[in-house]
Amino acid sequence: MARATLTIDLAAIAENWRRLATLCAPAETAAVVKADAYGLGVARVAPALWAAGARTFFTALPEEAATVREVLGPAAALYCFNGMAPGDAALLRAFDIRPLLNSPGQIAAARAAAAGEVSDAPLRCGLQLDTGMNRLGLEADELAAVLDDPRGLDGLAPDLVISHLACADDPADPMNAAQSAAFAAMTAHPRLSRLRRSLSATGGALLGPDWRHDLVRPGIGLYGGLPFAEAAPVVRLSVPILQIRAVAAGEAVGYGAAWRADRETRVATISAGYADGLIRAMGGRARVFHGGRALPALGRVSMDLITVDVTEAPGLAPGDALELLGPRQTIDALAGAAGTIGYEILTSLGSRYARRYEGGEAIPLAER
Ligand SMILES: *Cc1c(COP(=O)(O)O)cnc(C)c1O
Repeated sequence: MARATLTIDLAAIAENWRRLATLCAPAETAAVVKADAYGLGVARVAPALWAAGARTFFTALPEEAATVREVLGPAAALYCFNGMAPGDAALLRAFDIRPLLNSPGQIAAARAAAAGEVSDAPLRCGLQLDTGMNRLGLEADELAAVLDDPRGLDGLAPDLVISHLACADDPADPMNAAQSAAFAAMTAHPRLSRLRRSLSATGGALLGPDWRHDLVRPGIGLYGGLPFAEAAPVVRLSVPILQIRAVAAGEAVGYGAAWRADRETRVATISAGYADGLIRAMGGRARVFHGGRALPALGRVSMDLITVDVTEAPGLAPGDALELLGPRQTIDALAGAAGTIGYEILTSLGSRYARRYEGGEAIPLAER
């Protein structure tokens, strides 16, 4: 095969969800499946999470949530972080998606949509609050204005109030406590007393019981990324060697002749590049594995190719595969070489790989 293979371990995703669910109980552990389940394929990932026990799912966009509805059927609770635009009401109703309303404008749009409908069932939704990240969500004064207006939520049936932590991957960051206090103060209003509360994604869920409220919203931890250090690895990326050549001392390899041999070097050219999400900025800092042996990438990453120094692995031949992601090199390790985060490695993984899913048959907890 001249094509790289991306293997996605659905059993590992299910296991990571269970570990977090056990840790966070009695809080509910939901699952964040935005951006096509962090690039891993929501049509396969969402059913594996459902089989593991997840019942509440979050996406960014209403359209993404509609896909989850088609995959999971009517019983899942679906929320979208980005809330709604005025034109989204029909989609939200048709697919029973709860937008997390983010601003007075979104609340007004949701009320107008509900008022203009034939159905007099209130529109199910949630509220998203800004507690210091200044990205999405109602400010304290905006929330107070809505709640102090007896008609401020007419036509709406909110059942969840969320906010999001900016620095939860660093337990020592004082921003965590400041945001937690702001969340407590903003949600103390009696009109919010029957709504469920959710502050934490993966990082916050790991900070401890005080951060878990009624529901936690992990994404990256399900997919094997930090800050969930105990996560089982989920992806393996195996890239075949197309050619191996001997490069004499003084010869150059790749674009810009950016690498030059200072001794005779065996160079393998492997079949994946930046068009496959192998970020060009990692250049010669990346490592590629043959069994337990780390082999250094050299020169620049091309669109479709990467060159690797295989001098130390003399048995290799064209057609053999080298591993770029797997237990020996996690998404976070590769991210380190590229100056980014595991999230970006996952969501950049391209569409050219042969994708293999394994572990799709969910094994009930009792039988593990
Ligand atoms: C993406 C996102 C999450 C999940 O975050 P992870 O760090 O991947 O666990 C949770 N909540 C919100 C609002 C998000 O945007």
